[in-house]
Amino acid sequence: MNKLQRFEKVLVDLCWVVIVLLITGYVIRDIFNIESILLIKQGLTLNIAILVLFLFNVIKTTFVNNTALYSEKVFVIFRYIEVGVLSLFTMNIYIGIESAVILIPLVFLTLHKGFKAGLLLSAYSALFKTGYLLCDFFWFKHSGLTIGLMSYNLFKIICMYFVLVAIIKISLAVYNSSIKNEVENARLVIELGEKYEQLEVAQEEIKNQYDRLMETNRKLQDTNRRLTSSIAEFYTLQQISEAIGSILDINDLLNFVNDVIIGVMGVNYSTIVLLDHREGRLKVHFTNIQNKKDLAILNDNINCKLLLDMLENEKPIMENAVIPEKFDFIRSREVGSFICLPLSSKSRKFGLTLIEHKNSNTFDEDNLRLLTTIGKQVSMAIENAELYANLQELATIDGLTGVYNRVYFHKKFEEEFNAARTLGYDLALVILDIDKFKKFNDTYGHLFGDVVLKSVAQTVKNNIKSTDTIARFGGEEFVIILPRMSARDAYEKVEELRIKIANNIIKDNVILASVTASFGISSFPDISANQMELIRDADNALYNAKENGRNCVKLAEASDKSRL
Ligand code: GH3
Ligand code: MG
Ligand code: MG
Repeated sequence: MNKLQRFEKVLVDLCWVVIVLLITGYVIRDIFNIESILLIKQGLTLNIAILVLFLFNVIKTTFVNNTALYSEKVFVIFRYIEVGVLSLFTMNIYIGIESAVILIPLVFLTLHKGFKAGLLLSAYSALFKTGYLLCDFFWFKHSGLTIGLMSYNLFKIICMYFVLVAIIKISLAVYNSSIKNEVENARLVIELGEKYEQLEVAQEEIKNQYDRLMETNRKLQDTNRRLTSSIAEFYTLQQISEAIGSILDINDLLNFVNDVIIGVMGVNYSTIVLLDHREGRLKVHFTNIQNKKDLAILNDNINCKLLLDMLENEKPIMENAVIPEKFDFIRSREVGSFICLPLSSKSRKFGLTLIEHKNSNTFDEDNLRLLTTIGKQVSMAIENAELYANLQELATIDGLTGVYNRVYFHKKFEEEFNAARTLGYDLALVILDIDKFKKFNDTYGHLFGDVVLKSVAQTVKNNIKSTDTIARFGGEEFVIILPRMSARDAYEKVEELRIKIANNIIKDNVILASVTASFGISSFPDISANQMELIRDADNALYNAKENGRNCVKLAEASDKSRL
């Protein structure tokens, strides 16, 4: 039962009491036969008031939704209406101004000071009213009051005080409820405010925690992404480093790098383009583009301004929204994104790598960074390979004459001999020695002697096939390997060489001179059976040539004559 329902019940009970009292009043009036139009009027209006109030509350409590009414404003408005109606009709019971005088302060006193104050005031009033009535009856008989009328007046006073008590009760209920509600409301408002503040703080804290959590999560995701890509990068670079360390052939290495880029980055096409330094043009070296037409278009357009400029400036290009028509070298292919990065070292430009993907927006800065690192490693590997090749060449070439040196000769001689033996073809070995070179040096000086050495070496080099090999054997001696040549063919060939050398006029500033040379030839398998024999027999033949007046060619004598 809520506050409103409790209050309605009190009110209905009081109404019952007042109705019973009124009926009793009518009975007393009839017993004492008191005839007064005024009293009847007063009784009637009071009855109507009580009935109206009674019905008003019964209807209200029965039919009106209490929950809907239960608000402070509605509650107080109802109370004041009820108190007002009751007060108005109660005033009707009395004749004279004193009822209103007592009633209005009584209601407001009760409303604002409480039940006790209201009760005290009504008690004083009742005392005063009763005293006034008794005085009127005993001392002022001239007023003509009968015992019956006096008794009725006394009863009326009692009734009125019952009504007053009811008014006080109602006022008290309003007072209590409003005070209680006010206090409760204030407490609730404060409590609610505190709770709301706490809630706001908690919410703020939760929001901060959430933000921190989101931030941590974002950082974690970022770190995770970086870690994953770092691992992939590390793995890729490790593979390439290993390849650089283990794959000696630069072509194999570039092919491998191309495959790694395709595999690790999941791109559709990867192409390595190298710069031909002699022609100054880019040439496609490795690509996974299979289609011949696409390949032809790539080859035809690889020397475009965009790529040449990129190589010149050494600035990579990253395009994530490619319109194939705009780039001639990818015109025929379906490419949405590409990265093109230069392959160059501090001093040299080697070419470029072209990495393409069918989809747009595929590449980001991380991809570019990884590819740039790969590009640097590859460039370093190319440079090392070139340096190595140069060193290798330097190590095999005679510094003065420009033909192969003795070290290279032995290596090559072994290869050629093994090939001849395995495949069963002839191999001729020629040793030539410049005649009287000491004297020549003495006559024209060492510097001119050097020029002569160079000239003789070049004459031989220019007159042998690319599969033949000439090397400086030492001093003014040279050795020539002639694969697939019999002793007799070699003899003819060497005779031509002898004549060419002898006829060659060597010029250096004011000096004009020519030299002759002596030649010793041996051959496998007709004359010599192995490498050592080949050299020894050719040397013996040379000795023979020297013995026979120089400027001639001598064939070695076969140790087993049947071989010739
Ligand atoms: P022969 O006809 O018997 O071969 O006589 P030769 O003088 O050529 O033979 P010898 O072995 O006595 O002399 C070889 C000379 O070759 C000695 C050396 O001065 C010269 N010579 C060796 N190497 C070089 C070189 O690198 N430059 C020059 N200018 N001369 C060299
Ligand atoms: Mg010699
Ligand atoms: Mg000599």
